Amino acid sequence: MAELVFREDAYARACRARVVASTPAGIELDRTVFYPTGGGQPGDSGLLVRADGARVRIANAVKGEGPDAVLHLPAPGEALPAVGEEVEAALDWDRRYRHMRFHTALHLLCAVVPAPVTGGQVAEDKARLDFDIEMDRLVKETIEENLNRLVAEGHAVRPRWITEAELDARPELVRTMSVQPPRGQGAVRVLEIEGVDLQPCGGTHVAGTREVGRLAVVRIRSEGARNRRVTLGFA
Ligand SMILES: [Zn+2]
Repeated sequence: MAELVFREDAYARACRARVVASTPAGIELDRTVFYPTGGGQPGDSGLLVRADGARVRIANAVKGEGPDAVLHLPAPGEALPAVGEEVEAALDWDRRYRHMRFHTALHLLCAVVPAPVTGGQVAEDKARLDFDIEMDRLVKETIEENLNRLVAEGHAVRPRWITEAELDARPELVRTMSVQPPRGQGAVRVLEIEGVDLQPCGGTHVAGTREVGRLAVVRIRSEGARNRRVTLGFA
């Protein structure tokens, strides 16, 4: 179990850490800024810098076994650090920051389209949500206008924790039909966009909607009988 620095501070670009496991299948640290693939957000890439300055390129991060375990996947051919060694874990920050902006944009999209969410995915250059909704209720210009109004209004964005009992009392908070938030730890992390959206989420977000920047609806497409896919890009 590692200390997940990104959970409380999404803006942490690097941290000191100790290696607790190290194999070609993945490196585990006692604390990390690397977000592991999950919830539609890609895992982070970056570097581990060893005490002698040598760099281990990390191609991706994924969840390990057990809660709060993160496997840092070394790029092919990288020399592995030793267990017990102290390293600096440093993100490919430009990539992660785009994930944060797009991930926050998807929460806004969720607030703008009043329909159940059936799936979603963030990438570096675009992001999408799938909705169970009739095609003619999705109007590109209206969605763009509403999104960019929320962006310009500068709503605060912050994670907090609620109890599982509180979540049970407010089932409407869970907007994604196929994905239920992780349970069994007593508390559930929720993401609040003040006055706009509140829902369970474990991802990384910007601190205010203005940081998302202007958005464009790139495409609205049917993906099956009850699935309409709305894809966003930066305007
Ligand atoms: Zn989120």
